[in-house]
Amino acid sequence: MEKRKQMYEGKAKKVYETDDPEIVIVDYKDDATAFNGLKKGSIKGKGVINNQMSNMLMQGLEKKGVPTHFVKELSERETAVKRVEILPLEVIIRNISAGSFSKRYGVEEGIVFDEPTIEFSYKNDDLGDPLLNDDHAIALKLCTREELATVKKYAFLVNDFLKEIWKSCNVTLVDFKIEFGRLKDGTIVLADEISPDTCRLWDATTGEKLDKDRFRRDLGGVEEAYEEVMKRLKGQLD
Ligand code: UDP
Repeated sequence: MEKRKQMYEGKAKKVYETDDPEIVIVDYKDDATAFNGLKKGSIKGKGVINNQMSNMLMQGLEKKGVPTHFVKELSERETAVKRVEILPLEVIIRNISAGSFSKRYGVEEGIVFDEPTIEFSYKNDDLGDPLLNDDHAIALKLCTREELATVKKYAFLVNDFLKEIWKSCNVTLVDFKIEFGRLKDGTIVLADEISPDTCRLWDATTGEKLDKDRFRRDLGGVEEAYEEVMKRLKGQLD
């Protein structure tokens, strides 16, 4: 597979075309942003960890029946993935209250829900990723009703899988954000990444935050937290 011209550079990744029109290469950076790009920084080694972690988890998800964009890990930071049209929806699953949920509803962090919740945000930086419901997504033609049903089904399967695997690492999966894409033939697949940038992960014993909240909230030990969760996951999957 031959890497060709850069198509796009996002906040945390670059995407390149290849000689295959249906395959692109994602290159993970160490750059970190938060609060809709207002806070900027770098987390040394993050690109390597996010690339490898996302690939390990997506391969596990494929086995559980969730189709993903993953094709092949090419290097520490680069992965070949299927070309998709990203649905402009951030799909957020929560098992425990935290972050914007706590803020929005005025509740403390750490309330364990009886059942996971799902919510959608409209992926639009200019608007600050506003929350939206199913009917809004359809009205805005972001996806079809059928696609939304598929996305929801997969999102809960992803939660079941991630909750279990992180539990075996003595890590509590608080919440996470995933994105889906459409292949050329219309098939919906899990895309983007699953990493400490996109999940809230708390040590199950101490409650210590082991994710991007350490960067967002200036808690220190950011690199160490990413390395720690990666080490625990590798220990489980080896
Ligand atoms: N999240 C993300 N990207 C975003 C917004 C949220 O990956 O643009 C993740 C975040 O890391 C957390 C979950 O989605 O695991 C829920 O985030 P929340 O809505 O609480 O927003 P936040 O407090 O991070 O602004």
